[in-house]
Amino acid sequence: MTIESESVWSYVESPSVDGFIEAASYFLIYMIGMFLLSRFLPSIEAKSPKKTYQLTGLYVFILLTILIPIGYYTGNISFLFIIKKFISFFIVINIFAILFSLYLFLRPEAVRSALNAKFPIDYWHGREKDPMLFGVDLKVFFYQPSLIGLALANLSLAEAQISLHGALTVEMILYQSFWYLYLFTHYIREDFMLWTFDIIEDHFGFMLVWGDLIYVPFLYSIAGWYVADNVHSPMSMTRVIITLLLHFIGHYVFRESNWQKFDVRKYGSQVKIWGKKVELLEGRLLLSGFWGIGRHVNYTGEILVYLSIALCSGTVSYVPYILPFSLVILLSQRASRDDQRCRKKYGDKIWNQYCQAAKFRMIPFIY
Ligand code: NDP
Repeated sequence: MTIESESVWSYVESPSVDGFIEAASYFLIYMIGMFLLSRFLPSIEAKSPKKTYQLTGLYVFILLTILIPIGYYTGNISFLFIIKKFISFFIVINIFAILFSLYLFLRPEAVRSALNAKFPIDYWHGREKDPMLFGVDLKVFFYQPSLIGLALANLSLAEAQISLHGALTVEMILYQSFWYLYLFTHYIREDFMLWTFDIIEDHFGFMLVWGDLIYVPFLYSIAGWYVADNVHSPMSMTRVIITLLLHFIGHYVFRESNWQKFDVRKYGSQVKIWGKKVELLEGRLLLSGFWGIGRHVNYTGEILVYLSIALCSGTVSYVPYILPFSLVILLSQRASRDDQRCRKKYGDKIWNQYCQAAKFRMIPFIY
């Protein structure tokens, strides 16, 4: 492949021993820094159905939102090294994920909690549900390096565009704003994730460690590479408006539907949805709000968010569309598995009644 000098790919250095050592040092400093922030920043107490957590993500996010622009505009911080050492980071972090999962598998608490654990299956899924280290819940902690890592990768792509082309394109501004908003809406209701399947039921092993450290920061930022390079074919105003609309509709549906279910679970039926008293089937299944329209519109909203982010790259490549497309497959399979699970849990009669009320699975009037 030939790499044009005006492409952000031209920044990426070939791997070398020195590059690995540098990337490993940066990464370890980052992980230790994130861990110390999680341990010592003021925290917000939040309860899940099974235990109480001390959450610091919102404060980490606010702190970085203040410090990063100050550092950048005073010339004290640059993120270009992330792009430069991209390949080294990818290899180093994969090695870290493999070794850290081995630590999770072999640590004495894990051995005691699951004496008959088998390799590789329990290495993959994890032995403990909620491993703790120095008072920090590791499974919840790993969201921080994951999401902040994604933000840093995005910032380095914006910086690379400025350094190559002198300014940010409209597409890059949209791309950065969409991700920032995504993180913002995640952190303002950070306790939501404590009620998801991953936190309540899953064990913490290679699958989640790799997902947090590689899948999210590296795959979710892939569209940014194409946005950074796409400086010669600006979006028309119509396309900007369509992309914005798609994003705001998707984002609203995604977060609001999840929060509606979460609020009712957490606070009970006194919660109001869209200004009205909530309606529940058998005291449990929500019939109000988005949950009265479709059974998995939260998934649809999430896919629209990723699609709007991919659209910022235009039509230069199909690669940015891999993420929304893979989610169409993954989440529609998950929706169908979840329907089966709920049918089993609630019984045919109640589930059929719910399906009568919320007729659609993911797309109103279509599916
Ligand atoms: P889900 O929408 O998958 O939750 C489904 C569960 O909610 C059901 O099993 C049932 O569980 C309960 N439920 C279903 N219908 C109703 C209803 N009408 N009223 C009340 N409860 C109902 O959400 P999760 O919490 O698992 O996931 C949270 C978010 O994470 C989702 O928005 C999803 O898009 C996202 N996600 C993203 C992934 C990715 O790869 N990007 C992967 C996985 C999730 P029960 O009755 O037992 O409570």
